[in-house]
Amino acid sequence: MPAAARGDSLAAMDPDLLRRYGGPVPRYTSYPTAPHFHPGITAETYLGWLGGLPPEARLSLYLHVPFCAQMCWYCGCHTKVVRRYEPVSDYAETLLQEAARVADALPRGPRAVQLHWGGGTPTMLSGDDFRRLTDGLRRAFRFDAAVEIAVEVDPRTLDAEKARALAAAGVTRASLGVQDFTAAVQAAINRVQPYEVTARAVDLLRDAGIRGINFDLMYGLPRQWVADLLRSIELAVTLAPDRIALFGYAHVPWMKSHQRLIVESELPKEAARWAQAEAAAARLEALGYLRIGFDHFARPEDPLARAVTEDRLRRNFQGYTDDPAEALIGLGASAIGSLPQGYVQNAVPIQDYRAAVAAGRPAVLRGCRLSADDRLRRAVIETLMCRLKVDLAGLCARHDADPADFAEEITALDGMAADGLVEIEGSEIRVTEAGRPLVRSAAAVFDRYLKAGTARHSRAV
Ligand code: SF4
Repeated sequence: MPAAARGDSLAAMDPDLLRRYGGPVPRYTSYPTAPHFHPGITAETYLGWLGGLPPEARLSLYLHVPFCAQMCWYCGCHTKVVRRYEPVSDYAETLLQEAARVADALPRGPRAVQLHWGGGTPTMLSGDDFRRLTDGLRRAFRFDAAVEIAVEVDPRTLDAEKARALAAAGVTRASLGVQDFTAAVQAAINRVQPYEVTARAVDLLRDAGIRGINFDLMYGLPRQWVADLLRSIELAVTLAPDRIALFGYAHVPWMKSHQRLIVESELPKEAARWAQAEAAAARLEALGYLRIGFDHFARPEDPLARAVTEDRLRRNFQGYTDDPAEALIGLGASAIGSLPQGYVQNAVPIQDYRAAVAAGRPAVLRGCRLSADDRLRRAVIETLMCRLKVDLAGLCARHDADPADFAEEITALDGMAADGLVEIEGSEIRVTEAGRPLVRSAAAVFDRYLKAGTARHSRAV
């Protein structure tokens, strides 16, 4: 099929711009980013940080469940395939022990306003274990009456009983992995999930009383064309999701060996990825979704969209969020926590994580203490990523810093400004609509670690 007939000539991007600004950069779900965490931050450091939280702090809890029924070849998560339930139930026990230890280290007062189950596939947990864990968390931590409980759901393995168990545990929002409905694409990524399977899962969740529905879609997949993605979007919106995350597939086989099963010659090149991302964004906006940051979309009445209009949007390890918490507590293997003092990450191998918890300590193995410079740069990067603009003078005033110290970064943005991707006026930097998909590249200019680091990242587009 000729490219034009497939719609791949849509939203053509100057190849020069893609070459200059579309290269590998972090996703900036934290700053400093995870490759710069180090073992100088220990379980003892973490216990001290937890004890130092103010009593009025709001908590966000993240639980990582690193198990799946089958490996999707595009997967970039910390997970493993299990055939038996025993490792999952053992892990649930460890999660409860870890939660109790972490909660013991907190001062009296902090309350949980959000709970997010991620993975892996949290719905690998039986309905009983899911409820038992949620009840255990409610006993360990003080839950706010209006707590939001979100869970990542694999539509292929959801049944009515599990959906009811999620609702009974208080789940208010479910995120469903969809990616693309095209059969050829699904075969190429080892995730066969016809539209009817996703539609049934949405019905089960809504019938059980779970109202918030998110979909994850993906571009840049093998054998994927613009027309496939647009058709997938049309099908997706028939199910009326409140939010859609549109992620670019990150091909990092040096980090995720199963990605070697993806045929590289079937992957769309940079220009095609760009065309897919922009065509999908335009279609979602035309269908009434508000574009948020560079990869999220939400119905105008959804809380995430309201966070944009009310200037409350933030960015954390789940991406764009309206989570107002001052501290993110990560539980489970590989889970990352974010406290006012810095970041912590648990052991990644499940056996190491379980051994640490069995020894009676948090499983934190590395992290990063925030310096004053980190805090300032983190604020600049998060503001740019969320608001697509930043007033350096205003932020520097709040951080007791001198905006003149950013002269080098402003100069580094000259090229993007000349290409119409950012506008610089005094100390204010604005990312233009043309530059929105490349906001990570603008943010990267302020990343002090990126220049010195050796970490390899996925492409900006
Ligand atoms: S279900 Fe999700 S976490 Fe599991 S392998 Fe597939 S993409 Fe990865």
